[in-house]
Amino acid sequence: MNVSTSTTVASARRPTCAGCLRARSACICRHATPVSSKVELLVLQHPLEVGNAKNSARLLHLCLPGSRLLVGEAFDAVELAAQLHADGRTPLLLYPETPGEAALGLAPPPPIDEAMLAQPDRLRLVLLDATWRKSRKMLYLNPLLQGLPRLALRALPPSAYRIRKAHAPDQLSSLEAAAYALSQLENRPAHYAPLFDAFNGFVEQQSERFRA
Ligand SMILES: [Zn+2]
Repeated sequence: MNVSTSTTVASARRPTCAGCLRARSACICRHATPVSSKVELLVLQHPLEVGNAKNSARLLHLCLPGSRLLVGEAFDAVELAAQLHADGRTPLLLYPETPGEAALGLAPPPPIDEAMLAQPDRLRLVLLDATWRKSRKMLYLNPLLQGLPRLALRALPPSAYRIRKAHAPDQLSSLEAAAYALSQLENRPAHYAPLFDAFNGFVEQQSERFRA
């Protein structure tokens, strides 16, 4: 497991922003709006996403002061366990149950303990920041993740994500998925509205950049 570095986001020759790790000319920090959360967020980012300018996970991490972002594909089990259960929180994986998991040799996830959902300040939401295929691979390579109860999102509005083709029909950006999941777990959608504003600003900036 390695901590993310700036090397693939910004060329070594250009000055890099210490906040978002992008080239200063492409800095997205102005969109970051701090939003407190009861549920703590842990983002496990696939290494291929680190240099993806359209990736929203870094912005998400910047918006949620208590969140953690780790980069890796196959994580060291001891380290991952420590991250999942840090501060005695119970981890929940934001991931749909999909057909074909048994064929891959994946163990079925344990059910969610409903009593646990009543205590958001004891929960940790775990998000896999990767393409659909890579997220499956991360699940496959990390049995600890297979052993987590899964959270599925309830009905959602259509994604506002215009800048990257989704890899599954209803796939949201990482930031949107986390924002919806946190609102669902804490039952306070209005509190998380600033995350969507941050995301819209980010999408606008990326669209301008990639249109040019
Ligand atoms: Zn920045």
